[in-house]
Amino acid sequence: MTKKQRNQQLIARAEKLCLHRGVRMTPARREVFNLLSEHDGAIGAYDLLDKLKKEVPNAKPPTIYRALDFLQAQGFVHKISSSNSYVLCSHFEKQHPVQMLICRSCGNVQEIHSDGVHEQFVSQAQAQGFLVEQQTVEALGLCESCQKGNQLSH
Ligand SMILES: [Zn+2]
Ligand SMILES: [Zn+2]
Repeated sequence: MTKKQRNQQLIARAEKLCLHRGVRMTPARREVFNLLSEHDGAIGAYDLLDKLKKEVPNAKPPTIYRALDFLQAQGFVHKISSSNSYVLCSHFEKQHPVQMLICRSCGNVQEIHSDGVHEQFVSQAQAQGFLVEQQTVEALGLCESCQKGNQLSH
C-alpha cells in the first residue's frame, strides 16, 4: 500500500468516526489532517500554516489552532509538549495512553503503547490520591537510523 493510499484510508476512518460522533470534519480540518498525514514526524503549528496556505491562501493562525484543537479533541492528533508540535495518531478509534519516542536529530516521532508503563504510572498516581485523566510520556533520544548515521560519521 502506498503512503497516499494509507493516508486516504486514515482520513476515511476519521470521517467515519466524526459521522458516528455527530461532529463535523470541515474542509479546513480535513486539510490539516491531510497535511499531518503527509508529514513524517511531528510538525509545529506555523509550519502547518505555511503548508495550509498553499491550499487555502487566506488561512490564518486561528484556522490552524481551531483545526488542531478539534483534531486533538477527537484523538486524531497527539500534541508533543516538549517541542510544541503535533503528530497524527494512526489508531485513534479508542483512547489510549501515549508514549512518544522523539528523535532529537531528525525529529522523527514514534508512538508506542506499553501497557506495563501505563499501569505502573496509574497505580503510583493512585497511591498519591491522583486521578490520571490523560497520560503522555515523551522520551527524547536518537532513532535507529540517526544512531547508524552517527556511527558512520565517526
Ligand atoms: Zn495515538
Ligand atoms: Zn532520527
